[in-house]
Amino acid sequence: MKRIAVLTSGGDAPGMNAAIRSVVRVAAAHGVETMGVQQGYAGLIAGAFTPMTVRSVGGIIGMGGTVLGSARCPEFRTEQGRRQAIAQMQAHGIEGLVVIGGGGSQTGNLMLHRMGFPVAGVASTIDNDLYGFDQTLGVDTALNTALESLDRIRSTASSHHRAFLVEVMGRDCGYLALMTAIAGGAEQVVVPEVETNPDEVARELRQAYERGKSHAIVVVAEGARYNAERMAAHFREHLDQLGFELRVTVLGHVQRGGTPTAFDRMLGTLSGAMAVELLLSGRYGYIAGWLAGKVQALPLEEVVGHKRELDPKVLQLAEVLAQ
Ligand code: ATP
Repeated sequence: MKRIAVLTSGGDAPGMNAAIRSVVRVAAAHGVETMGVQQGYAGLIAGAFTPMTVRSVGGIIGMGGTVLGSARCPEFRTEQGRRQAIAQMQAHGIEGLVVIGGGGSQTGNLMLHRMGFPVAGVASTIDNDLYGFDQTLGVDTALNTALESLDRIRSTASSHHRAFLVEVMGRDCGYLALMTAIAGGAEQVVVPEVETNPDEVARELRQAYERGKSHAIVVVAEGARYNAERMAAHFREHLDQLGFELRVTVLGHVQRGGTPTAFDRMLGTLSGAMAVELLLSGRYGYIAGWLAGKVQALPLEEVVGHKRELDPKVLQLAEVLAQ
């Protein structure tokens, strides 16, 4: 291979820039040129390619977001869109592609692989919903950001006898919410994987109040049936019985931003390097990510289309701890 391309797709995640930098520099060390694709699959279809050099990726390792931009691209879901993307790469002499992104992006990547184009992936999403890996790129930073917010909320909550519903991201996966709740010492956690009755949550809050707690924090995953807004609407009808004043905080995109942690910089760097090495050694259709204490490659066929489950023991532990 003489020329490869790299793109970031789906939701941006802290650490993506470390992965881009690593792809460019490891490829260059092998005498391979890297083209950066602007705006994910949309840029691939449009042929929006820019040559990247070891110098052009200088100074980006500590930056949040992605210097290549990211987008959602419905056209790539069609066979015609993907054919056009392959034609663009061939026209520009691109012989391999690294896709940095989450489940949707890696599904698209697998489609390219099945069409015979050489691809590699980097497991990257703050949702941690990719099957097969322990932790995806961006999760560590997002978790620490959510935790910092939770700590701040707690100090104001206890001064005013307030209950807070704090909504964290994660799409249909409760991982980020569960870990934020455990690490932040929340009173309750509501995740999409477990059917939650809001009356039950209200009862627990009331009991916490009667036990003398000066505040209560419920971490709610955005994908739960009762997200923070719906839960609050339900509570407001029974507010007099709650014991606490109620406030809602949706952390939203705050969790995506910020400088990546040391772990995410290291993970992005090692995963990007592995993705290039996979391509250059002819092992196509693999994705690099964090598994069992190191960066490992799994076949996209094994990762895509499976649902990642929450560890039931950790869920149980969250309940035990919230006394
Ligand atoms: P995150 O979970 O962090 O938001 P993601 O990669 O899962 O990241 P998606 O919005 O699901 O984000 O997907 C990103 C892009 O991947 C889509 O806009 C689309 O271009 C492509 N994609 C998603 N699903 C498919 C599919 N089934 N076939 C082909 N391409 C797909």
